Amino acid sequence: MLSYEQARQVILENITPAGIEQVDLVDAVGRVLVEDIVAPWDMPLWDNSAMDGYAVSFDDCSKIPCKLKVTGYIPAGARADGIEVKPGGAVKIMTGAPIPAGADAVVPFEETEDATDVQVTIQAPVGQNQHIRFQGEDVRSGQTVIAAGTIIRPPEVSMLASLGRARVTVFLRPVVAILSTGDELIEVGRTPGAGEIINSNTLALAAAVREAGGIPRIVGIARDNLESHREKLTEGLKTDMLVTSAGVSAGDRDLVRVVLEELGVKQVFWKIGIKPGKPTAFSVKDGKPVFSLPGNPVSSLITFEEFVRPALLRMMGQRQVFRPTFRAILRDAIKNKESDRTVLLRIRLERDGEHFYATTSGKQQTGLLKTMVNSAALAVIPPGRGFLAAGEEVDVHFFGSFIDLI
Ligand code: AMP
Ligand code: MG
Repeated sequence: MLSYEQARQVILENITPAGIEQVDLVDAVGRVLVEDIVAPWDMPLWDNSAMDGYAVSFDDCSKIPCKLKVTGYIPAGARADGIEVKPGGAVKIMTGAPIPAGADAVVPFEETEDATDVQVTIQAPVGQNQHIRFQGEDVRSGQTVIAAGTIIRPPEVSMLASLGRARVTVFLRPVVAILSTGDELIEVGRTPGAGEIINSNTLALAAAVREAGGIPRIVGIARDNLESHREKLTEGLKTDMLVTSAGVSAGDRDLVRVVLEELGVKQVFWKIGIKPGKPTAFSVKDGKPVFSLPGNPVSSLITFEEFVRPALLRMMGQRQVFRPTFRAILRDAIKNKESDRTVLLRIRLERDGEHFYATTSGKQQTGLLKTMVNSAALAVIPPGRGFLAAGEEVDVHFFGSFIDLI
């Protein structure tokens, strides 16, 4: 049986990016850039004013207050052609407007007095080059400004737009087929009768795919017979990745692995030394990854989180595919019966000043979904740890949207 770490490594060794496409800038957010972005021009394109005020010559303003003759006006969007700051003169200028010849400083309105259309008095000391944004001071033409492999955020969108790029080449969002199995399952919207279980896994896994940036394709439910498994698994294999839930243990109705093999899908491994999630299987067909997750809703979400999500991010070209890991101090002692496996404990994360604290978010039986709902992270307890005392430090993987501040 593979260890937790081995399983994570073997999966990534089998993953290649799903492909590339060109998209509009807004659609590129969250995606990974395929190409280096080289600036086609300087930024700023020309020297311009950083303030609304007056363009002046530094030499004219050595004694304060100093009275200057206003000889022109350059609003934003105007050109400075033919406009000049002559000795003893000043040109009214707006933020972003080009600096006129003869000027080497801008004095903001707030530092002037008695301004009219023809004159102005400078009230504060003037520094040479003050409030001027110089051509190329941000970006030089020919410079690589954003490297291939960068995840595009709003700042990158701003930079790309400023450099004239309306579309960029990014890695594809993989289409991920989601398939649940089991005779007991009914779709949400109906109150379950005796023996019926609502198919929550399909929706939870589809949501997890979408959150990670993939495109979920819901294939439906395979019933516990070979025919139904053949039909649904064949359908699921038409996408970039297939994720199934349930039917992967050693029960006599657990048909997922049997039918995958029949369909020519090569099993890379079955079972991981973790709790929960031990029966997880990973297979590959023509380079396409297939994850067979346990049916228990908590187990399927945790195994998605720890094994499928990193694979999905790698397919989208991301390098850092694991969640941020913190060291956190355990609030409670933990007795660990399954100490031959890595235990993934559902916890809340609290922060008190510089320290993070891990508090179990409820009983850890895999059937308890509410514990998962109340969790922001998983504490990773390595094998061989039968008992952990309160106050010990553990690694935690933060997947939540909240850390409680105390
Ligand atoms: P299995 O792996 O088929 O033995 O299923 C393990 C447990 O997970 C059983 O209690 C199932 O009823 C439950 N389960 C399986 N599939 C789903 C699903 N799609 N949604 C919610 N619960 C499920
Ligand atoms: Mg089942």
